Amino acid sequence: LLQLYAPLNFLGSIYSSIRNALVDLEHMFGLLEETVEVADPAAPLPIAARLHDAPPVSIEFRDVHFGYRRDREILHGVSFQTRPGHLVAIVGSTGAGKSTISRLLFRFYDVWSGHVMIDGHDVRDYRQDDLRAAIGVVPQDTVLFNDTIGYNIAYGHLDATPDDIERAARLARIHDFIISLPEGYNTRVGERGLKLSGGEKQRVAIARTILKDPRLLILDEATSALDTHTEREIQSALRAVSAERTTVVIAHRLSTVVDADEILVLADGLVRERGRHAELIAQGGLYAAMWAAQDTGTDPQQEAGREEETF
Ligand code: ATP
Repeated sequence: LLQLYAPLNFLGSIYSSIRNALVDLEHMFGLLEETVEVADPAAPLPIAARLHDAPPVSIEFRDVHFGYRRDREILHGVSFQTRPGHLVAIVGSTGAGKSTISRLLFRFYDVWSGHVMIDGHDVRDYRQDDLRAAIGVVPQDTVLFNDTIGYNIAYGHLDATPDDIERAARLARIHDFIISLPEGYNTRVGERGLKLSGGEKQRVAIARTILKDPRLLILDEATSALDTHTEREIQSALRAVSAERTTVVIAHRLSTVVDADEILVLADGLVRERGRHAELIAQGGLYAAMWAAQDTGTDPQQEAGREEETF
């Protein structure tokens, strides 16, 4: 039996390689379709990119319907409006559509119906490049290049001076960590260099965003639990970059949202509740239940994820 096992195992691994290759191809074609679908308008409107040059953006979702596949609508008429400069946190269980909202703001996809508006105009009225220059995204997991940490912060802003880089790193609360490294800003990071923790990588991404100086910031919070110190450092870095800037936080940990100017609670493809932390707690609805569950140590966001996996 053991003699049989090895070749079977080998065949199994070939099968899974082929399957993965097919999935990759599907992704590739998916991407090609997207490029065709999301097109620039014939007469694009101008949009200022940097907060240095123009006030923070206003955002509005007007009765947005959207799904990734025709047979499965994810957002069933999402509407909300935010004030320029506000920090808005989006909460909801796993798969509720939080990240989808950020992808639509960035116009990775076009909506089925309704409008995603920035500065009072549909995102389809702008050139994609202009829109994306005005938005800074701090993803859950930043990919680092096999280069120095200084290069990784400056990435995309090759005219940034060492002073600019250090200022951004200080604001992002990563400077002290960098100077504790043997070669400071010249320390090599990435796959072939020093491996940074999730929290450190996220602060590198925040420093990069400070250099970009976008009028809208989207932060996709890491799902993984962070230790209290790292959590505080990230909070402090986030405050620095989001001050005066319209910010959307895809919140995975409720501790982040307490100070938000507005919290949107997404459930069943709709915005079910909105308000500040204290208001939503007083309301005693979905948000209050999430908060209570987190206090007792059961995170409803994770619970929902587990349910989804079971079915
Ligand atoms: P999480 O908290 O787990 O990050 P989320 O609220 O951000 O979840 P989304 O990532 O917006 O959820 O996903 C919403 C739904 O859309 C999920 O059911 C997900 O499976 C589906 N979905 C997301 N991306 C795609 C995609 N590229 N193709 C098809 N379906 C997708």
